[in-house]
Amino acid sequence: MANISEYFKSVGQGVKSLLTGMGVTGKELVTPKITEQYPENRKTTLQIADRFRAELTLKYDAEGHHKCIACGICQMNCPNGTIKIDTKMVELPDGKKKRKLDKYMYDLGSCTFCMLCVTTCPQDALEFSNDFEQAVFTRGKLVKQLNYRPEPADAPAPAPKPAMSPEELAKIKAEALKKAEAIKAAKAAAAAKAAGETPAEAPKADKPAGDQPKNDAQS
Ligand code: SF4
Ligand code: SF4
Repeated sequence: MANISEYFKSVGQGVKSLLTGMGVTGKELVTPKITEQYPENRKTTLQIADRFRAELTLKYDAEGHHKCIACGICQMNCPNGTIKIDTKMVELPDGKKKRKLDKYMYDLGSCTFCMLCVTTCPQDALEFSNDFEQAVFTRGKLVKQLNYRPEPADAPAPAPKPAMSPEELAKIKAEALKKAEAIKAAKAAAAAKAAGETPAEAPKADKPAGDQPKNDAQS
């Protein structure tokens, strides 16, 4: 008798366990899905958190200006040598010279996303984008120039070439004249040779003006 009651008790426990399991399954069946289907939904429902650090970028305003002043602090603070900053000197309209950012190179492949560069930038010029799709076929493609946009139109124009002094101009003219004479003489010599005459000696074109005999200079 005891065996029969234990039998029905275990059957009851089995049915209860089955119903509990089916309840969990049924609940998950109607719960909204949290698993993302990638890449099918990359442009529809895929949401990446704003604070996700995917790639270092320079901040640009609407006119295309970035705030970087090429101070190099981020480069100094980066523990991995991920940042390399090249600078250039530009002349401002008032004639003063200013150091400006030429190339801001960033190697995504060696970045540890520590944010030291972002937090120590005195100009608040850097941020991390959450553009997570960074797969490339070669490591070289992970090295990026962050100031990739063209300089805005109001950037200072390159300094005009300084005007030549009269002495420099005279020197260039004299050299050009000498070259022309040498070519003329060489042509005359070739013509004379062809005609069987003894050619006159042609002046040398590449001799510097200072090496000419004094008589030449005086004539
Ligand atoms: S990003 Fe900031 S810290 Fe780095 S060079 Fe530019 S201004 Fe300096
Ligand atoms: S996040 Fe860290 S490792 Fe990456 S560039 Fe900035 S300082 Fe260097």
